[in-house]
Amino acid sequence: MIRVGINGYGTIGKRVADAVAAQPDMRLVGVTKTRPNYAAEAALRRGYDMYAAIADRADEFDAAGIDVAGSLPDLLDAVDVVVDCCPSGVGARNRSTYETHGVPAVFQGGEDADVADASFAARTSFEAVRDAAADAVRVVSCNTTGLARLLAPLEEAYGIEKARVTLIRRGGDPGETDRGPINDVVPDPATIPSHHGPDVNTVLPDVDVDTAALKAPVTAMHTHSVNVTLRATPTADAVRDLFAGERRLFVIPEGAGIDGAGKLKEYAMDRGRPRGDLWENCLWAESVEVSGRDLYLFENVHQEADVVPENVDAIRAMVTDVPAAESVERTNEALGVGVESLLSDDGQTCDPIAADD
Ligand code: NAD
Repeated sequence: MIRVGINGYGTIGKRVADAVAAQPDMRLVGVTKTRPNYAAEAALRRGYDMYAAIADRADEFDAAGIDVAGSLPDLLDAVDVVVDCCPSGVGARNRSTYETHGVPAVFQGGEDADVADASFAARTSFEAVRDAAADAVRVVSCNTTGLARLLAPLEEAYGIEKARVTLIRRGGDPGETDRGPINDVVPDPATIPSHHGPDVNTVLPDVDVDTAALKAPVTAMHTHSVNVTLRATPTADAVRDLFAGERRLFVIPEGAGIDGAGKLKEYAMDRGRPRGDLWENCLWAESVEVSGRDLYLFENVHQEADVVPENVDAIRAMVTDVPAAESVERTNEALGVGVESLLSDDGQTCDPIAADD
């Protein structure tokens, strides 16, 4: 069993903790919190051992009625790998602590690429990370993960001459009451390219990709408007079939009645997904259009969820010799990654005079 600790139990940390706990070959040793708040209580109720991220604050946990099993150094001494899910920049400050304890570490995409020896996306860089025998690996951000998953099969099947992506990013996560914008759509950054294109190249080095990004007052998902100039001229149906063969991509059937992030999240909750999480890129079948060598499509990425299976695979890439395909399969099976819809492209369409009219 791979013994795993999670340092930082927020949006990403809580999800990675659940994903690790669900793996047949992993044991979640514990999670850290900086203070005994609602999330600490929820973790305890899930049966996770709690460690004080800051040793001096252990008394605060005791006072609040939350038992702690120790502090961060105790957790590090009890694990084979730590997953750092702290806010951007804090991970970089933690690296030396992990090194002191001789514990390999997985970092998140909010850190600069140089926080780690290698960047990771399961679809593109599992073997490279394994070969690098890295002690520190960075799982790329939610947007970069989504783009790597989408572009890798296109590059393999048709070759990519140039990819251009406009990212409409969510202003904040649902729980981030202090984030924005509130009533605007803001170029972020106003300069082009945004950092996402170069970040894609940390896991897919040979693909020419430019990105531009805006921030919108929504919390559910990011939206990508994608244009890829291919080296071949496939039909739109062939591209849809290619994507349908990728379990971490969900091709939303035309006629499913899913018109945006709101209904995607509703569908995820209706399907019983924990926290309404969508681990897959969600791309609209009818948006896939090929004109000459130009491919166009729209996809959505659930920022809180798509990196979660990637973290699990990153752990196996670092500390086991499980082959890439087997790891991905194991992760997918344990979590239930892969959306199978009963509605095919030719399936039911939405009657405009429906029962709810
Ligand atoms: P978050 O703020 O929701 O969670 C971070 C947690 O770490 C909080 O619970 C915070 O209290 C805790 N923390 C702060 N300082 C700490 C310390 N010194 N030691 C231990 N815990 C500490 O942040 P998040 O959204 O989960 O982001 C974590 C990382 O994941 C960032 O690098 C971020 O860029 C990346 N990421 C976030 C998203 C997203 O959409 N939320 C998506 C992909 C990647």
